[in-house]
Amino acid sequence: MEQRFKSLSLFEFQERFSTKSDCLSFLAFLKWGSGYRCLKCGNDKTCNGAAEGSLQCTKCNYCESPSANTLFHKVKFDLVKAFYIVYFVSTNKKGITSTELSRKLSLRQKTCWAFKRKVMKAMKSSGDYPITGVAEVDETVFGGQEEGVRGRQNLNKKLVVVGIEKKKKGVSRLYARVIQNADAESLGKFMKDHIATKAQVTTDQWTGYAPLEKDFVNLTRIPSGKKGSNFPDLHRVVMNLKGWLRGMHHHVWHLQDYLDEYCYRFNRSFMKDNIFDNLMLRMVNSPPCYIKNISS
Ligand SMILES: [Zn+2]
Repeated sequence: MEQRFKSLSLFEFQERFSTKSDCLSFLAFLKWGSGYRCLKCGNDKTCNGAAEGSLQCTKCNYCESPSANTLFHKVKFDLVKAFYIVYFVSTNKKGITSTELSRKLSLRQKTCWAFKRKVMKAMKSSGDYPITGVAEVDETVFGGQEEGVRGRQNLNKKLVVVGIEKKKKGVSRLYARVIQNADAESLGKFMKDHIATKAQVTTDQWTGYAPLEKDFVNLTRIPSGKKGSNFPDLHRVVMNLKGWLRGMHHHVWHLQDYLDEYCYRFNRSFMKDNIFDNLMLRMVNSPPCYIKNISS
């Protein structure tokens, strides 16, 4: 079995994943390292399949490749380069544009863009680790004039609810979700997915939060202050997020995927060591995704 990598410099990465076989065996390890089960008949015995790295069920002969049913499913370009994309997206502090990936890897920009979109799918929050301590929640508008918060949506403007966890003097975690309306239902669903009901949550006095006081027993609603001055940490995080998005991506299409990418890296900035492994495991555990109608 392959070893797991604690931290991976670019040099180590290049040495470790220099051939397609290296990549296939790592995918096989991530996929079947804790046991194989046939998708068709449930049998747990295999022999090697005809294609490199694939396993064949000894009972029904179903053959599965290490990339099948993962986000690497039917990758049409060099698998080594696909690994590089995951590496650069996970380890670059601010992420990487498809144009830059294209230049580094000698791939078409559209190819990089489409695969990077798949990597971003794997960066979606699992919702498994709700904030239990001190949290703040607010909404903001992305795109357009960035005014008219809580107004109706149009294609160039998206309403986003943002939640942070505060620890000591800083922000230790960040979640963000595109919502249609700032009503109690949308706000409540976001909060229930990311914040424990006993957490110390602070929001402003927007009416959408009022009904949530019964679910979140320690919810405090305070005036937001001039330009959100009572929520300085949250507004700083939102400003950084908007600045990143402007540099990375020039409109608000696919905004949720970009929010997921940003939050994923933000939430792991204190434990970068395992970020590549973690993202690879998520890629393997995520169902295939077909990026249709490609337009960047
Ligand atoms: Zn079988």
